[in-house]
Amino acid sequence: MIIVQKFGGSSVANVKKIKNVARRIVSTKRKGYDVVVVVSAPGDTTDDLIELAGKISKIPSRREMDMLLSTGEQMSVALLAMAIHELGEDAVSMTGYQVGIITDDVHGSAKIEDIHSGRMLEELKKGKVVIVAGFQGKTPNHEITTLGRGGSDLTAVALASVLKAKVCEIYTDVDGVYTTDPRICKDARKLDEISYEEMMEMAALGAKVMQSRSVEVGKKYDIPILVRNSMNHTQGTLITKENKKMEKVLVSGVTINEDEAKVTLLKVPDKPGIAAKVFQKIAEKNINVDMIIQNKSTTNYNDISFTVMRSDLKRSLPVVREAANLVKARGIQVDDKIAKVSIVGVGMKSHSGVAAKMFSALAEKGINIDMISTSEIKISCVVDGRRGKDAVKVLHKKFELGKKSK
Ligand code: ADP
Ligand code: ASP
Ligand code: MG
Repeated sequence: MIIVQKFGGSSVANVKKIKNVARRIVSTKRKGYDVVVVVSAPGDTTDDLIELAGKISKIPSRREMDMLLSTGEQMSVALLAMAIHELGEDAVSMTGYQVGIITDDVHGSAKIEDIHSGRMLEELKKGKVVIVAGFQGKTPNHEITTLGRGGSDLTAVALASVLKAKVCEIYTDVDGVYTTDPRICKDARKLDEISYEEMMEMAALGAKVMQSRSVEVGKKYDIPILVRNSMNHTQGTLITKENKKMEKVLVSGVTINEDEAKVTLLKVPDKPGIAAKVFQKIAEKNINVDMIIQNKSTTNYNDISFTVMRSDLKRSLPVVREAANLVKARGIQVDDKIAKVSIVGVGMKSHSGVAAKMFSALAEKGINIDMISTSEIKISCVVDGRRGKDAVKVLHKKFELGKKSK
């Protein structure tokens, strides 16, 4: 039986931690499982490499960025394989390229199209632990790609699905998935279980503990995902199918995303087809737009605001300027100090008044709401970036998510 174990960057940040991870893997192997391991780059390596590239080029080539960033994970797999050898077990490290993780050619946020399991299965049969570099793949034309930030989670879940693994274990630096980021709210509560849907929303809305697309894949192929701490043996959080127990909870979690920026096109003529033109231009550059708001004023003009990842802002602006000229907007405004704060819960489907409760909690603390978006199981508000963490604390309290209230 195969188990996939993924270790995040913080779990392999130094020699002591790499040795700790090796011990955990060997103990799983010695229980009789075939183990496939996915590892991230050590500590802050990916951020450091991005910063390094920024010192050389303002808008670096996307292809060369992938070439650079994929090296971080390559370090981890080799070191971890050596650490396992030292413990007397056989292990082999592999890059995404060597495994045959085939992706499309969207550098920086490539989508996995196919995974060759042959070589991994061969190595497992020889009794080896297979250690795969997370976050990377290759195009059919042999170009190296990366899967977007946090992409090692996706590598792990995708491997678990092709290998038909029993479980995909995600080892990180907290005990599991909490009601909110435990670094922001000291009384955040660890959840024993969370549904795929809620975890997908929480991840998409900023809960960095899991990458959103990885949970989507887990849901699609019905892979149980267990989030655990690599430094202790506590139970963790199981990401699984929605069940009756979960529906009883109105709000499961609060999230914050501080990685977005808001762009506004001012005074755009109010005519059909304008929004289509603007967002088509942006989509052509593979830039993801998140929230969109169009305010119809009493004049014949609209303001159109939207948010993009702050890391995409620099390369978005030339396209946005082009689009603004095309639709004869009066100007562009950029606000890169925003925070998007959200509440998530499957229980919202069947309850009303949740939005009002959220807005009044923010109002009581004098936190102004800039943009709002909702879906069946979430409500998001964009607020001033300087008040983001306050907003999280207020909402966590208002919806009684903390330890003491239970
Ligand atoms: P890794 O390096 O293991 O991939 P990440 O830094 O990507 O780890 O994710 C773990 C971090 O996610 C935690 O340290 C925590 O601060 C943050 N986090 C944000 N929201 C949550 C949440 N709801 N539950 C648990 N952790 C969260
Ligand atoms: N190293 C990559 C990142 O920092 C991938 C990952 O950690 O999952 O985003
Ligand atoms: Mg991560």
